[in-house]
Amino acid sequence: MISNPNTKVVIDQSNLTGSGNAALLQSVATVYINQREFRVYAPSAAKGKAIDWLPQFKIRRTGGYFENEEQQDEYKELARHLVKEALEEQSQNQVTADGTHPDGIHCSAQICKQGHIQHRDGMPFDPKAHCTKCGASCVHECQYCKEPIRGSRIYQDPRAYALPLFCHGCGRAYPWMEDKLQTARRLLDHDDKLSYEEREELWNDLQYVMSDPKADLVPAKKKLIEINLAKAGAVLKDVFTDIVAKTSAEIIKG
Ligand SMILES: [Zn+2]
Ligand SMILES: [Zn+2]
Repeated sequence: MISNPNTKVVIDQSNLTGSGNAALLQSVATVYINQREFRVYAPSAAKGKAIDWLPQFKIRRTGGYFENEEQQDEYKELARHLVKEALEEQSQNQVTADGTHPDGIHCSAQICKQGHIQHRDGMPFDPKAHCTKCGASCVHECQYCKEPIRGSRIYQDPRAYALPLFCHGCGRAYPWMEDKLQTARRLLDHDDKLSYEEREELWNDLQYVMSDPKADLVPAKKKLIEINLAKAGAVLKDVFTDIVAKTSAEIIKG
């Protein structure tokens, strides 16, 4: 055992693109354990996240007599473990690092679960932060498909940014929108001014409009929603109208 080792890790690259040369390994990290220095390599053909290639990493001693000798002992395991930890930490903080969305066109965004926008203009942020307005926890990616939320377009005035309601990756509602929908459903179930059929019709039409706001039938469905809402209670009317309006705003923006 190496007791209380003094360790340091410097990550060279966490995303691999392949070295393009079968004889050339790709350097992933340099690890220091006490006085020893090691280089950690991925195979030449490895592509994608370096961490996925962990079992294939080659660990070599650097310097002096041991130059490039492959380590087989406990140092090797420790070095592998240290690189794993460092890569995990880096991917956790990646959004913090630069504030850019992986698409390269947008900034990244952080929004609280109630829908208060925290970050959208490319400033780095703490992924675990809470909302400064309401204290709710914050998200920066879709809870279903993990696609990072888009912030402002790079070089565009962040004041033009509108709160996104649906994930552009999978189309499902973000938490703040899901909340509104659940409220709408509950209000609908309790609105005794509407018949059972009218309620179901309203709900189906709303789902239709939201699932594909650009579909040809949407204007007609909106008209039907309006007609059915005429009989509904005031609160329900407000909530539904608000959701439909927000859905339309999304299309104009997109
Ligand atoms: Zn909030
Ligand atoms: Zn999604």
